[in-house]
Amino acid sequence: MDIENLPVTTLKGVGPKVALKLERLGLRSIQDVLFHLPYRYQDRTRISAMGGLRPGQEVLVQGQIDLCEIRFGRRRSLLCRISDGTGALTLRFFHFTAAQKDNLSRGRWIRCFGEARRGPKTLEMVHPEHELFDQQPEPLTIDTLTPVYPATEGVHQLMLRKLANQAVREFLPELQDLLPDNLGQALHLPPLVEALQLIHSPPPGAAVEELLQGRHPAQQRLAFEELLAHHLSLKRLRYKRQQHGAQPVCSKETLVQDFLGRLPFSLTQAQQRVTEEISTDLSKPVPMQRLLQGDVGAGKTVVAAIAALHTIGSGYQVAIMAPTEILAEQHYQNFSNWFAPLSINVDWLSGKMKRDEREAAVSRLTSGEAALVVGTHALFQESVGFSRLALMVIDEQHRFGVHQRLALREKGSHDGKHPHQLIMTATPIPRTLAMTFYADLDLSTLDELPPGRTPVETVVIPDSRRDEVLVRVRQACAAGRQAYWVCPLVEESDSLQAQAATETRERLAEAFPELKVDLVHGRMKPSDKEAAMGSFKGGTTHVLVATTVVEVGVDVPRASLMIIENAERLGLSQLHQLRGRVGRGSDRSSCVLMYHAPLSELARLRLATMRDTHDGFEVARRDLEMRGPGEVLGTRQTGVQNMRIADVLRDQALFPKVEKLAEGLMRDHPKQVVALIKRWLGDSEDYANV
Ligand code: ADP
Ligand code: MG
Repeated sequence: MDIENLPVTTLKGVGPKVALKLERLGLRSIQDVLFHLPYRYQDRTRISAMGGLRPGQEVLVQGQIDLCEIRFGRRRSLLCRISDGTGALTLRFFHFTAAQKDNLSRGRWIRCFGEARRGPKTLEMVHPEHELFDQQPEPLTIDTLTPVYPATEGVHQLMLRKLANQAVREFLPELQDLLPDNLGQALHLPPLVEALQLIHSPPPGAAVEELLQGRHPAQQRLAFEELLAHHLSLKRLRYKRQQHGAQPVCSKETLVQDFLGRLPFSLTQAQQRVTEEISTDLSKPVPMQRLLQGDVGAGKTVVAAIAALHTIGSGYQVAIMAPTEILAEQHYQNFSNWFAPLSINVDWLSGKMKRDEREAAVSRLTSGEAALVVGTHALFQESVGFSRLALMVIDEQHRFGVHQRLALREKGSHDGKHPHQLIMTATPIPRTLAMTFYADLDLSTLDELPPGRTPVETVVIPDSRRDEVLVRVRQACAAGRQAYWVCPLVEESDSLQAQAATETRERLAEAFPELKVDLVHGRMKPSDKEAAMGSFKGGTTHVLVATTVVEVGVDVPRASLMIIENAERLGLSQLHQLRGRVGRGSDRSSCVLMYHAPLSELARLRLATMRDTHDGFEVARRDLEMRGPGEVLGTRQTGVQNMRIADVLRDQALFPKVEKLAEGLMRDHPKQVVALIKRWLGDSEDYANV
């Protein structure tokens, strides 16, 4: 039998019980075991001198026991001091028996493996793996790196190592290389079987540094295949989608012309180009699935409005979904204002509506009376049905998971047709990543801001200089400008955050008796929030104290000053989003990033990046470097977090080759494509079939 279908129970020592545990790691077949790859290595080939250790290092040390005693602190622990002539180290055990304590007697030799951590006096190792000797031990016999596998409860390293060894020994030679023969040569990478062999048990003399960094050719060979599998699975998703029909929406130019004629501005070139791309998609009988990315303030909403008009003009419904109440309300207002003169009914649906209002709105959707509905994720709910939905717009998509997106699509489907989807994001995705992780979407980019915007001047100052900031706010407001004062998450809880904002509001109101200081946060009633936003938009409120609820999309052109407290706690993309709330009018705008000293090195770097960089793409690129793709892209929607060996930053150079090969495989080797996806993604690709 093919090792793809040979069950794990074929291995020695794996009965039904163990098989069940292995299943938790997704290991069902021999192939799964072979492709369960070490995510790192431990280096037990050399003994490190205690004197030269730094916190965080995982090392093997050897020395003699100086002292061993029980400490009765907050938590009873056994402390054992050891030294090797270069320095000393403390071993700390929280669980121990009397016999263990007796074994660790003064003068004996000990060899330990573990992570050195900062302790009160010396560096420490907590519960290190250790071996005891009565006299100086023989030199080391381990001369290869030790693989560390992703493990789970009841499945330990030792077991995984044994299973991998057995699988490699007995079955690896039968493994089929699914990539074309000449590929390895072209990429200067070893054949699959050789690569796997080396990764599971690196031979003595293998390039240690390369292996530890994941840059060894054997690892690169597998990383290549993994990236390819992810890319292929998305391409296939896209292909499947195209098998569904969609309602072609033919543009009613008059409606769009009428709308454009009423706008107080004309479209930027980028908006025109993207609008074209979208209307071409809409006119086809296959569902559009397009990601519209554009920096904050690039004017994505107008583009969505035009797509909506094409759809409504053809007699179909549109749903617009936003991630927060505030944002949904704002879209509702914008669309209502824009569409009222065109005699188009705009409806509104949120989770916080009164029951009868909600029911009325739902029935207008079901009957088809409502041409356009704006809402939050309440739009997903059971009771909501559409009569003839043909387009859904999803704003700030990084807040929604792929599942929600697909669920909404299901809702909107009728007669086997899927609605078109336009997904908007202000978190620009670097091209290399987009190609791999959004290969199921078409990409449109607004790479131009509307004219007349001046870049937001950004300053970074410690909160000990708060008084200067206050002066600045007072001056700005005296000159007719408005200010946001953002209190980001300081405490984990929503309610504490709201409390912090409430207190800040009180302090600011005291400091500025002549100004109107208002407050908006996530725990306020929707009507209160709306009122607060309304009077800020209307210019009655001078200073709006807010939590990060104002992060996405909120648009008040006259606000030209933003203060962000505890800015060091926010990620770059989030700061960029927040900062995007100002600089929307023609006034010169500024953003003050206040931090609480001392700053970590990383935080200092982040704030400096914000000060020096205004381009959202550049910010995203730096963010990616600092935080990694899982955080930046939102882990749920991409396969990034499931990568076994590839690292999308480290392995960027492989991307163009992956793309090129994928084309050919899809065309000429569909069977290999399916096998590759199964090998690397297993069943996790199932959602693709929704
Ligand atoms: P985002 O892309 O961040 O969602 P918005 O759609 O909220 O941006 O647009 C930001 C602001 O720019 C809005 O006030 C909008 O009316 C305005 N705007 C959009 N397009 C243009 C344009 N072509 N010229 C001038 N202002 C524009
Ligand atoms: Mg927006």
